Amino acid sequence: MVNLDIALQSKFYANSPDKVLGPLSFSVSPGEFVALVGPSGAGKTTLLNMIAALQSCAPGEIKFNGYPLSGKPDCKIGYIFQQPRLMPWLTVADNLRLVKPDTTESDIEAILTKVGLAGKSDLYPKHLSGGMQRRVSIARAFLTEPDLLLLDEPFVSLDAPNADNLRALLGELWVEHQPTVIFVTHDLNEAIQLADRILFLSSAPAMVILDKPVDLPRP
Ligand code: ADP
Ligand code: ADP
Repeated sequence: MVNLDIALQSKFYANSPDKVLGPLSFSVSPGEFVALVGPSGAGKTTLLNMIAALQSCAPGEIKFNGYPLSGKPDCKIGYIFQQPRLMPWLTVADNLRLVKPDTTESDIEAILTKVGLAGKSDLYPKHLSGGMQRRVSIARAFLTEPDLLLLDEPFVSLDAPNADNLRALLGELWVEHQPTVIFVTHDLNEAIQLADRILFLSSAPAMVILDKPVDLPRP
């Protein structure tokens, strides 16, 4: 289980004068499910990329159980990107093996069955619908049994039944493995329904941390 401590200074991209993020700091407890809410452009994806070490957070710091990620090679991160980002030249099975090369045929079939894609292991991404590709990317993220799960708008662009299936699946997998979760969304209702705690990232930018407002009337 992973405890996260995030302390960031102001983030700018080289080609733009506008501040993207920060300064901000917050912590996430082991096994906590945190929603990160904010409008498009607030820096949510940038923040997830920094946590996943896909982008530098220097001179800020992000610590996993007290250590930078480079000092915690045993900490497994699952990242469900906004786009499925499957390798088009690899089959579904080989896309999964990219993150865990020793995965057996039967392990692949088991995880694919769990995401509703039994028997699809030999297909290429172009043979799958967007929702199916998304489910492969979810299987990929869960295959390594991550300690920390990063979700970037996983329900966007899915139709309602597919989004419902996916929500149920994530809930199931979460109960099974209990990873620490950071879930990015611009949908406050979704955040209220799923998360233990909601962090608001405004494009102002300033961050407010609220406990989940459980007493709000549900729509
Ligand atoms: P979101 O829907 O979260 O706002 P975007 O569609 O803005 O995501 O960004 C998708 C990807 O494109 C991200 O990896 C982001 O880093 C990159 N990106 C977004 N805006 C720019 C930009 N102005 N210049 C270069 N890359 C960008
Ligand atoms: P969000 O996920 O909240 O929509 P992003 O982190 O994707 O926000 O983007 C925050 C801001 O930074 C946006 O204005 C976006 O255009 C800009 N941005 C994102 N990635 C890049 C990049 N690689 N280069 C330049 N600007 C970027």
